[in-house]
Amino acid sequence: MKKVANVFTAPAKHWVGNGFHVASMFSYKDKDKNLDPFLLMDYNEPKFFQGGRRDNSAFDLRGVGEHPHRGFETVTIAYQGEVSHRDSYGGGGTIGTGDVQWMTAGSGVMHEEMHSEKFAKEGGLFEMVQLWVNLPSKDKMTAPKYQAIKSADIPVVTLPNNAGSVRVIAGELLDAKSPAETFSAINMWDTTMNANSAYTFSVPESHNVIILLLDGTIQVSGNAVARRGELVTFERGASDVLIEANNTAKLLILTGEPLNELVVGYGPFVMNSREEILQAIRDVKTGKFGRLG
Ligand code: MN
Repeated sequence: MKKVANVFTAPAKHWVGNGFHVASMFSYKDKDKNLDPFLLMDYNEPKFFQGGRRDNSAFDLRGVGEHPHRGFETVTIAYQGEVSHRDSYGGGGTIGTGDVQWMTAGSGVMHEEMHSEKFAKEGGLFEMVQLWVNLPSKDKMTAPKYQAIKSADIPVVTLPNNAGSVRVIAGELLDAKSPAETFSAINMWDTTMNANSAYTFSVPESHNVIILLLDGTIQVSGNAVARRGELVTFERGASDVLIEANNTAKLLILTGEPLNELVVGYGPFVMNSREEILQAIRDVKTGKFGRLG
């Protein structure tokens, strides 16, 4: 059984632009946790946004305006609400409840992430997770790519013994395989556990595992308790993760093969050396990341 290393409560929330009120559950600055290849997790717990009228007066969409990324992928999971994205490589689209946006920044994009016009107009509850997934050194300068993964395309697995169900956002589980293309071995399991249930997830022994509790309470590996809004990290080694729930629980389980490469990050850039970071800053200044049309 994989040993729980820690259960963390959410840190204080901060605004990303004016559209995302997030707790950064972890970041690439946390060198002491087994997170590799995951770099960052921002969690926007359910938050109500008032709808605004669209009329002749200025209508400001909430969100975060044009900014760069290089060297990794951003994965946005929409639980409630809608986000529209546009990038300098021509990628774009709107994701809503159940959809996932998988953007490979690679060699560099400028993008914006905004509440959709429809959501801004109607208002409602907004709940998102954004992950930053590292790219292997050899792929950091790959061409940018945008995958819109619609809810209907995400396979759903029913767990044995009525334990619950899992949407396989990335990787595979039992007989289901996600359509998401990844650069390293990753699983993302959007999991609902039923009341009075237990299931042992089998994870490759070499993988790091991270769990975010979105709702409810679970017991992990037989001893640790995690509650809504908390993050669970694990020791290295072993392959079984036992999840038990007395009531319905919603959790996001991430597993990944560590890249074991040097991580040098600076704001929206994550590379392998300081020189590559300085190059990224120069490349933004000289327009090599392109512009939003
Ligand atoms: Mn971004």
